[in-house]
Amino acid sequence: MSINSHQPDSLKEKLIAKDTITRAASNLKKIQSQTFDRDIRILNVCGGHERTISDAGLRSLLPEQLKLIPGPGCPICVCPAETINHAISLSNNKHNIVACFGDMINVPANNKKSEVQSLKEAKASGNNIAAVSSPAEVIKLALANSDKTIIFFVAGFETTMAPIAAMLDQINHSSINNVKFLISGKKTWPIVSSLLNNNDHNLDGIIAPGHVATIMGEDEWKFIPAEFKVASAISGFTIDSMLSSIHAILSQIKNKSPSLENHYQETVTHQGNPTAQKLIKKYFNTGDSMWRGIGNIKNSGFTLKSEYQHINAELLIENLTQKTHKSDTPSGCDCPKVTMGQLTPTDCILFNKACTPSNPIGACMVSDEGACQIWWHTLPMQNNQCIST
Ligand code: SF4
Repeated sequence: MSINSHQPDSLKEKLIAKDTITRAASNLKKIQSQTFDRDIRILNVCGGHERTISDAGLRSLLPEQLKLIPGPGCPICVCPAETINHAISLSNNKHNIVACFGDMINVPANNKKSEVQSLKEAKASGNNIAAVSSPAEVIKLALANSDKTIIFFVAGFETTMAPIAAMLDQINHSSINNVKFLISGKKTWPIVSSLLNNNDHNLDGIIAPGHVATIMGEDEWKFIPAEFKVASAISGFTIDSMLSSIHAILSQIKNKSPSLENHYQETVTHQGNPTAQKLIKKYFNTGDSMWRGIGNIKNSGFTLKSEYQHINAELLIENLTQKTHKSDTPSGCDCPKVTMGQLTPTDCILFNKACTPSNPIGACMVSDEGACQIWWHTLPMQNNQCIST
């Protein structure tokens, strides 16, 4: 039965669901029927995609030579340890409250054993730290604590920077004057460009991030086939969308015709969301940025514009140290290689041994979007897709 405008909503929903399942099953069958004369490596940029793939056990359903590689899509995983230490030092001042999203509290700052290791430890020792789940909670915190400065410590990609810019706009048009920002804001396309620029990348396809593309537009990702001749598709976050993206990428590889296909047309347009982009441009400049354990990536960071420096919390830090990535990664931790798609989590010798979600050694084991944490929770379904084997 096809869908028409006279049908009740409940029937339409059932027909759409049936249609979706049929399409997903058909794409899965087409992918399973393919044979490969070598490993095919497809990297998913977004942590949300990695979660969909892992939760569904997709790897265990695909041909063994088809490798789905988690990529750089976890913003707290790439926030430099030094910025976490800045947040810890700001929280050690009775006039400040540092607010951050919950995951960030557990990220190891990779300090000496005798020093505080994370915001969680700093909080336990009495520092003023509050876990929040939205910018609205930070505004509430500011209103309830007018005698304190609220430092909003934010690590995020474009999808986070857009609501942060909206929050800045709200604050700008209000009498709130006790919020400052410590920002580790990153753009996603430069890190993908950087990993494809590595001649040893070994990647055959890229699943581009659906949420980022919703904000920034499909066109921003056209560099993947245009510049690097790599197959690509923008995917949504359902199994149906992921399977159609993977199938599209395999077809591009087979036909030797790399392109960018949009398999998230419900929300992603060519130009993206102009209102969100305008807000981001109003408050942030783009500049070089340090990625945890990886180093400086050109034009990959958001920084507050010069006219908003009065709310830049970095200016409150005494002895602001030079940012470096050398001390970001503890001995034995492969987070930078996992982030760049050069290894998968189970390739790391610390995975599920010294490093677990309750005792994270690296940042990738902390967040819901971190590849190591996702794999730890879904290990039996990962089909042992180690890159190093
Ligand atoms: Fe880093 Fe732990 Fe992942 Fe190893 S298992 S890469 S130490 S987060």
